[in-house]
Amino acid sequence: VEREAPLNDTVNTDLLLVGAGPTGLFGAYYAGFRGLRTAILDALPQPGGQITAMYPEKFIHDVAGFPAIRGRDLVDALTTQAGRFSPDYLLGVNASELHYDGELPVVRVSDGRVVRAKAIVVTSGVGKFTPRPLPVGQEFLGRGLEYFVPRPAEHTGRDVMIVGGGDSALDWAQTLRPVARSVTLVHRREQFRAHAGTVADIRDSAVRMLTSSEVVGLHGNGRVQAADVVHRPTGATERIAVDAVIAALGFLADLGPLASWGLEIQARRIAVSTTMRTNLPRVYAAGDIVAYPGKVRLIAVGFGEVATAVNNAAVEMDPAQDLFPGHSTDAT
Ligand SMILES: Cc1cc2nc3c(=O)[nH]c(=O)nc-3n(C[C@H](O)[C@H](O)[C@H](O)COP(=O)(O)OP(=O)(O)OC[C@H]3O[C@@H](n4cnc5c(N)ncnc54)[C@H](O)[C@@H]3O)c2cc1C
Repeated sequence: VEREAPLNDTVNTDLLLVGAGPTGLFGAYYAGFRGLRTAILDALPQPGGQITAMYPEKFIHDVAGFPAIRGRDLVDALTTQAGRFSPDYLLGVNASELHYDGELPVVRVSDGRVVRAKAIVVTSGVGKFTPRPLPVGQEFLGRGLEYFVPRPAEHTGRDVMIVGGGDSALDWAQTLRPVARSVTLVHRREQFRAHAGTVADIRDSAVRMLTSSEVVGLHGNGRVQAADVVHRPTGATERIAVDAVIAALGFLADLGPLASWGLEIQARRIAVSTTMRTNLPRVYAAGDIVAYPGKVRLIAVGFGEVATAVNNAAVEMDPAQDLFPGHSTDAT
């Protein structure tokens, strides 16, 4: 469904979406439905934003029309829906600088490419988020040390260690328990910050829980083979054989390069009007990144906002256009 934008210097498009979370993906469908050429870029290597990064296996219950839909299935459906109009994906890259060529916005991308668009919708969620790093063993990143679990089946038959005490750590423990050979959960405190029911479920399971404990070293020959875990109250250290260490220590989110674009920022969010327009010409924003009185940060809300943003951007690009796009039921 996806196609990578050609790696030449300039990508010319009508609408650029900055962020391929659920809001950006639905925006790509919507722009296509309005007949606009669309490019969509994301710092992460896969589309889906927070859903893909943090809860692809969880069921979401508050997306209109779906009593329950697994995170990854919602992302797949959104990319299929947008794919009908073949947006250009630029993945694993940051939107760095914004400048204008006359009236038209031009965005420089971290890999050196330039995107020339007639309008931009910033759908960058909580911003550029990077996993909080495990303080040790960075040399094993991608070779046993992971920050995401995009494909749980890859851990089939493995001895897995999960580090962290929040919802993600406990969710991964629950997800991997049936597929991994063993799961060890290491948390530096006694108390967990996760949903109480999930914690109770894990406590009653075969997952080995090491609390008040920290990973102080990783070992292996090429790939991770063992982790040293110290129990802080006693100082006792244990070397545990593992095939994978999943660090779920949370994410560091920041606006990243968008902070220098000249956007009006309120409490690390982008201020928008009721048309989802920012203070900058031809730049709109939608989804978790926006701030206005009464804003609620939910997938369903981002879907509505991005439809508003795209329709208003379409009119700003071409004032002869109607704001109302017509009904999709009338399209072939
Ligand atoms: C554990 C958890 C459970 C949740 N459960 C629910 C739920 O049940 N129902 C619900 O409605 N919501 C839920 N949410 C919230 C929901 O995930 C968010 O509201 C939603 O993801 C927002 O979508 P978005 O597209 O606006 O932003 P995001 O999903 O944050 O996507 C933004 C994307 O923009 C990219 N980006 C940012 N800055 C740049 C840049 N400069 N260059 C390139 N890329 C950039 C990021 O990498 C990211 O992929 C949950 C969130 C979490 C963490």
